[in-house]
Amino acid sequence: MLLSFDPDSLNLPAGHFVGGAYLRAEGVLPMHRPSDGKAFGACPVASAELVDQAVVTAKVALRESGWATCPPRQRTKILHRWADLIETEAVTLARLEAFCSTRPVGELIDGDIAATAEQIRFFAEFADKEGSELVPTGAASLGMVMSEPYGVVGAITPWNVPLSMAGWKLGPALAAGNAVVIKPSEMTPYSTLLMAELAERAGLPSGLINVVLGDGPTTGAAITGHPDIAKVSFTGSTGAGAAILANIAATGIKPMTLELGGKSPQLVFADADLDRAINAVASSILSNAGQACVAGSRLIVEERVADQVIAGILARMEAARAAPTWDETSRYSPIISERQRQRIGQVVRAAIAAGAECLTGGSEMDHPGYFYQPTLLAGVEQASPAVQDEIFGPVLTVQTFREEDEALALADHPTYGLAAGLFTRDLSRALRCTHALQAGTIWVNRYGRSRDHILPTGGYKRSGIGKDLGREAYLANRKTKSVLIAL
Ligand code: NAD
Repeated sequence: MLLSFDPDSLNLPAGHFVGGAYLRAEGVLPMHRPSDGKAFGACPVASAELVDQAVVTAKVALRESGWATCPPRQRTKILHRWADLIETEAVTLARLEAFCSTRPVGELIDGDIAATAEQIRFFAEFADKEGSELVPTGAASLGMVMSEPYGVVGAITPWNVPLSMAGWKLGPALAAGNAVVIKPSEMTPYSTLLMAELAERAGLPSGLINVVLGDGPTTGAAITGHPDIAKVSFTGSTGAGAAILANIAATGIKPMTLELGGKSPQLVFADADLDRAINAVASSILSNAGQACVAGSRLIVEERVADQVIAGILARMEAARAAPTWDETSRYSPIISERQRQRIGQVVRAAIAAGAECLTGGSEMDHPGYFYQPTLLAGVEQASPAVQDEIFGPVLTVQTFREEDEALALADHPTYGLAAGLFTRDLSRALRCTHALQAGTIWVNRYGRSRDHILPTGGYKRSGIGKDLGREAYLANRKTKSVLIAL
C-alpha cells in the first residue's frame, strides 16, 4: 500500500466537532507543517461560550442516550466497532496525523494506529467486568462500594503523539460510561477530529465525544474551570499541569489526572547485553526525534564499556536522514516548530559553552523542514540544564560511573520521575535498582512502551498525578459511593 501522499491535496476536517456536526470557525492561531515549514492555515480558538455549548451537548447526549446506564456490554460492542473502523480507516487517519505532526506516516499504521485500536478494545472489555462490589460489614447490614461514571470528562492532549493521546483519554472515559469534551493541541487537531467522527459512524451516540479546538489559556482553561466538567484528564508539560492545578483550585475542586514531562535516565552496566542496550538507548532518543515524554535522554553508562556503547549510539545517530513525514520511507521526525528547534539549539550551545563535548550533531539539518541533528553531549555536569531540563528534542547526554551507587545518584532527578531504563544481566542488581529508582515506569533490558496495555503509565514527583492505561485508567474514570444498608 502506497502511504506517501501530497500534503497540498489532503482534505482536512474543518472546525470544532460538537454534537456530531462540524462547527465552522474562523482560524486564529497560525499553523505550519514541521516537515517543510510551510504555513497552511490557522486553528480556531473555542471561546468559553463554545466550550459551554460542548459541555451542555455532552450532558444532554448522556441523558438521552442512556450511555451510563445501558447494559454495559452495549458500550463494549460499540467501542469494538470503533476500534475496527479505526483500523479500516488507518490510511486516512495516518495521513491526517502525519500532515502537520512529527509522526512519520510509515510508522503509524502498525504503530500508533494499531496500538490505539487495541487500547480501545482493551478498555471496552472493562465495561462489563469492573463495577460495584459488596464489602464485609456486620451481619445486620449490607455494605456496598457503588461505582459510577463521573458524567462529562474534560480531556486535553499534547501534539507529540496526538492520535495515541486521544485514544488514551477517550477509550477509558467512554468505556466507563462518561461523555467527553476533548481539546487536542492547537498544532495537531486533525486526527482527533476524525477519531470522533469514526466513533459516531461506529454507533456512538452523537454528542458523547465533542472536540473543541483552541489554545491553553482560552479553551483549555474554559474546560478545566467549567463547573459541569466533573473530572479532568490532561497530558502535557509540567508547566501547563501546574497552571491547570491552579485553575482547578480557583474555580472549584475536581479530580484530575496529570501526565506531565520527564527527563528519563538509562543506566547501562558493563555486564549488560550491550548490543541490546545500544539499540534501546538510540531508539528511545531517535524516535519522534526525542519528542516523547519518556524519551531516555540521559545515558548513564559504566565507565569501562562507555566507549563501546557511545560508538554504537553514534553510528545510529549519524545514520538519521531528514525526510518529510508524508514520505513513507521517513524514519526521522522534524521538530514540531521553529520556536522549539531554536530552544533545542540554545540548550545545546549553552552546554557546549559550559564545557560539554559535542560528539555528534549540535545543529539544524540542511532541510526546509524543522529538522535538528541527533546530538550526543559528553562531559556534562549534573547541574547543567542539558541534564536537568526536558529538552524535548534529539539530544542525549552521557555520564559515566564506576559504582552502582554512583549510577543511582546520577539517575535521581530532583523533580522529574516519569520513566527509567536499566540494562544488566544481574538479576539482583536489576531488582535493587528497580526499587531505588524513583520513577513511575522502570524498563529492564528494554526501553519504551509495549502493547501490554494493562501496565499503567504515569509519573512520580512532578511528572504527574494518577495514571493513564491499565486498570487504573479505567477506575480513574469512575467515582465510588459507599452504601450501608441496615437490614
Ligand atoms: P503543553 O503543556 O504545552 O500543551 C499540552 C496541551 O495543553 C495542549 O493541548 C495545550 O493547548 C494545553 N494547555 C496549555 N496550557 C494550558 C492551560 N493553562 N490550561 C489548559 N490547557 C493548557 O505540552 P506540549 O508541548 O503540547 O507537549 C509536550 C509535553 O507533554 C512534554 O512536556 C511531554 O513530556 C508531555 N507529555 C507527557 C506524556 C505523559 O504520558 N506523561 C505524554 C506525552 C507528552
